[in-house]
Parts: sequence; C-alpha cells; structure tokens
Amino acid sequence: MTSSSSRYRESKEKSAEIMRQVVAMMGQHDAAFNPVNFAVWYEHLAGINSRLTKALVKAQQTEPRLSYATMARLHQECVAEPDAESMHQVSLQLQKVMTGVWGSASRAGEQAGAYEGQLKELVLEINSDAALAVRPLITRILDETTQMGLTARQLSSEVTRCRLEIDRLSKELTRALDEALIDPLTGILNRKGFDQSLAAMLEVSPKAGGSHCMILFDIDLFKKVNDLYGHVMGDRVIQAVGDTLTACAAHLASHSVARYGGEEFVILLPDCTLELANQVAETVRQRTKSIKIRDRRSNSVAVSITISGGVASLRLGDQAKALIERADRALYQSKLAGRDRITAC
Ligand code: GH3
Ligand code: MG
Ligand code: MG
Repeated sequence: MTSSSSRYRESKEKSAEIMRQVVAMMGQHDAAFNPVNFAVWYEHLAGINSRLTKALVKAQQTEPRLSYATMARLHQECVAEPDAESMHQVSLQLQKVMTGVWGSASRAGEQAGAYEGQLKELVLEINSDAALAVRPLITRILDETTQMGLTARQLSSEVTRCRLEIDRLSKELTRALDEALIDPLTGILNRKGFDQSLAAMLEVSPKAGGSHCMILFDIDLFKKVNDLYGHVMGDRVIQAVGDTLTACAAHLASHSVARYGGEEFVILLPDCTLELANQVAETVRQRTKSIKIRDRRSNSVAVSITISGGVASLRLGDQAKALIERADRALYQSKLAGRDRITAC
C-alpha cells in the first residue's frame, strides 16, 4: 500500500475542490463527520484508490446510506497502512511452527540416544555370556525400539504438517507483497510498483547509444466520461486503456507499465531510444482512439476516447524527479496543443 506521504499529491486548490465534494457526500450518508469517514470519501473522490472505489461502490449497492461500521471497515481494508500487528502475528506463527519442528527433532534425538545406550549395554552383556540376564534387557530394547519408531513417525508427519503450514504462510506473504504493487482495477503496476521499477531502472546506467525513457499518458477529458456515462463505465475505460498499454509494450524486451494515478498511466523503457519510445507512445495513442466501450445492454458503442502523451529520456545527472517532470511537461504540451497527441521532450 502507498505510504501516506506519497499517496496525496493533489494541489491545495484541487484538494479544496475534493474536500467540498467529500463534505457533501458525508452529509448524504449515515456515518458521522469524522476523520475515518473523511479519509474514505477523500480517497474515493480524488480517484487515487481504485480498490477502495470498487469496494465502496459495492457496499452502496446493499447499503445506500453508508453507516460508520461500513466506512470503518472500508478504511481498515483499503485505506489504512499495512497492519504491523498482522505482520507480527505472521512472524509469531512461523516461529511457533519452527519451534514445533525443533521440539520433535530433539525428542527423536533423545530417543535415538537412549537406543544407542541400550545397544551398548546389550553388547557388553552378550560378551559376558549371561544369557538369562540379557532377556529383560532385550525386552526393554524392543520397547525402546517401538517407542522410537512411533516418535519417528510422529516427527515425519509433524514435519510434513509444518512444511505445509510454512508454505501456506509464505505464499500468503508473497501474495500480500505482490498485491501491494499491483493496481487491482487494471492489473498493471500501481504507483508504488512504478516507484520501485523507476528506482530499479535508474540504478543501472543506460548502455551506449541508448537512454532510459518514460512515457506519461493522460486520458483526455475523462471527467466528461464519468459525468456522461457514470463511474462504472469510467472504470471500464481505465481497464481498457491499461490493457492497451500492456499490449503496445508487450513486444519490448524490457519495460514496465503502470497506472500512475486516476486516469494517468506510465510506461518505463530502460535502454531505449527517444525515437522508439515515441513510436510506442504513438501506437498507444492510435490504439486508444480505436477502443470502443460498448453498452452491455444495447451493444452500441457508448464511449470512445483519446489520450495524450509526454515522452522524456534520461539526461546526464537526472534524478527520478527530473525525468518525471520532463515527461509531465511534455504531456502538458500535448494537452495545450489540443490533446490526442504525443510530445517528446
Ligand atoms: P484532461 O484532458 O485535461 O486530462 O481532462 P480530464 O477531464 O481528464 O482531467 P481531470 O484530471 O480534471 O479529470 C480526471 C478525472 O478522472 C477526475 C476523476 O474523477 C476521474 N477518475 C480518477 N480515477 C478514477 C477511477 O478510478 N475511476 C473513474 N471512473 N474515474 C476516475
Ligand atoms: Mg489527469
Ligand atoms: Mg485527463
């Protein structure tokens, strides 16, 4: 999940506009005017938390006037930072499992030790030819052996159970970590995933003759799509654009595709030329124009959209911020020049 410091990037003016909408929304629902309720509405209306938006839309289907209990649940599930307590619980469980394995192993070791001692005694007895005295000892050894066999079987089934449990927990952890980098609406990287990919790209210097490139995209006049066709249709458009970006970059050896924000996307192209990055951006623009979102009932085309893009390549001494700013400036030029175009910078 994105940390709160990088999650809220809206300007003061934009956040004031969102805040007015938040207050209006809070007035229409049952939950009180409190910070938890505020944070949920804010993230939804700012369009920065699509997982929350999905969950909120779903909750409203059964509860048109949202209660505080529902808002608190949405906050816990979609807004709150990863819960340190659950991570602690996972690690405690792993420790418990490992202690179990260790306990079983040491019990088996002790049994084996006892068995070895008995055998040594037996050898001594046999050497002294005291056959009668040996009999009870042999009986004891047989008992010990039986006990040892039992312990060994217990150990093996306990180890199997422990291994399955460890496997389950580690898969759960991996999934949680992966999910934290993926945007649930589009299935491409989210902002956190993008930040990590960008950092990884900038760690390695570009090969001679190439550079690291970034293309920033922003769907044109997307607010109108929401206003005219509703958020559900808007979400379908965002998904379709995510698919288009993925398809357009698929043939490139090394690339990352991410949802940068609400209706903004980014492609990272390590070791690429500005010319090739431009071509990729242009393909995205053209294919986006041909996206047709159909009305599921009438099957007629309900929405078609355009997209603008800004392309930038890494320059000597550039940090991440400089590259993003240059791509953003190029994108802004595309918007200024009338949208549905790509600008390189
Ligand atoms: P421009 O061409 O200048 O980019 O115009 P625009 O209308 O696209 O620009 P603006 O940034 O003002 O509007 C973006 C809108 O995208 C506002 C927000 O409600 C919407 N949005 C953001 N995230 C989501 C989302 O996950 N789903 C839906 N349906 N809408 C979203
Ligand atoms: Mg935008
Ligand atoms: Mg836009």
